[in-house]
Amino acid sequence: MTEKLLFLFDTDPAPSVFDTVVGYDGGADHIIGYGGVTPENVGAFVDGTIYTRGPKEKQYTAIFVGGGDMTAGEAVFKAVKKRFFSNFRVSVMLDSNGSNTTAAAAVALLAKAKPLAGKKAVVLAGTGPVGMRAAAMLHIEGAEVSITGRSLPRAQAASKAINERFGFAPTAIEAVDNAARAEAVKGAHIVVAAGGIGITLLEEKDWKDRPTIELIADCNAQPPLGILGVEATDKGVERHGKIVFGALGLGGLKLKLHRECVRQLFESSDKVFDAENIYAQAKELA
Ligand code: NAP
Repeated sequence: MTEKLLFLFDTDPAPSVFDTVVGYDGGADHIIGYGGVTPENVGAFVDGTIYTRGPKEKQYTAIFVGGGDMTAGEAVFKAVKKRFFSNFRVSVMLDSNGSNTTAAAAVALLAKAKPLAGKKAVVLAGTGPVGMRAAAMLHIEGAEVSITGRSLPRAQAASKAINERFGFAPTAIEAVDNAARAEAVKGAHIVVAAGGIGITLLEEKDWKDRPTIELIADCNAQPPLGILGVEATDKGVERHGKIVFGALGLGGLKLKLHRECVRQLFESSDKVFDAENIYAQAKELA
């Protein structure tokens, strides 16, 4: 039987251990990781995937683009697809820092809990890979989305990048500290925390008595958590009258989704997994 080969093209210096483990759990027989991948050097790697196996075996070679920088990941993903022609292609997935799968799991669980259309959503620290994708998926659900960052230029740059990819620009808000983020969530119905690991963005007192807030999701699993008063294992539980999800509560769906996408990469050689179809799968699995 032809072995399933998954090539990790990571924009960080070293390929992600997390993506390697989940790739094996998704059914790959071998995972070959490359770090420091750029649009300039990826062409030769792609050639190695598309010129080596015949039409019937090509579906058992696939590419996964990852790394900590969403914009860099998108650029590599674009360069990979550009290198394909005719049936000289393999399936490919973009999931920089778990951006698509984590955001999709969070937003799909929120959307399952309550309709999001017309609601005001604030993505705290929405400048990273997960936050940028969460903003896009909340927009797909019809929410009115804002993102915060500690500096306005960084928040604006993330909004611009989201606009270039998805055709909508979330409102960029500068929020330098927890007090500023408490201001930013005033009047919001949905709060998603997408800050770096182990970083608190919002204190419990700043959300528990806010009458508009209906839904909360925190992506950070490592204490101290992103939103205080939410337990990491919360999965749609009610706290202070709000429906809340912690990082482990949404992490189960994230992992299931990530594995399922990897599994499907080997079904044919023309799959292209990015935000929209990963989100659609999350809604099916949620
Ligand atoms: P990231 O790029 O590391 O960080 C996101 C944003 O956090 C940054 O753009 C930065 O925004 C902000 N930030 C960094 N340090 C900060 C500080 N000291 N104070 C306030 N804000 C700070 O994160 P990511 O890769 O998008 O991931 C987001 C979260 O999802 C992480 O906690 C990650 O561990 C988690 N995650 C969860 C799962 C799951 O299954 N639950 C899976 C994957 C990832 P500014 O500089 O613009 O302020």
